[in-house]
Amino acid sequence: MYEEIKPQFSLELEGFKFLGRGPKATGETMGWSRDAKFYYRCVKCGDSMNAAHNKYWSCSCKAVNLDKDMGRFGSWHGDINILVYEKID
Ligand SMILES: [Zn+2]
Repeated sequence: MYEEIKPQFSLELEGFKFLGRGPKATGETMGWSRDAKFYYRCVKCGDSMNAAHNKYWSCSCKAVNLDKDMGRFGSWHGDINILVYEKID
């Protein structure tokens, strides 16, 4: 099991609503939602990626990675250490 890491920044993000940690926070039961209204944020460095992002992506601390070709998304610190946000219109 992974331990929940406490972020060194405020969970509040202007223009976004914090939903929780891990893929289930979006309401999706089968993995990570690709809906563009969601954003995934690294609990370590605070970098975020749009859920619909369709290229390779790594946050600045390299913990969170999207490997588009392998269809893999996750954090070295476990899914619970990916913060989920929804964009507020
Ligand atoms: Zn990071």
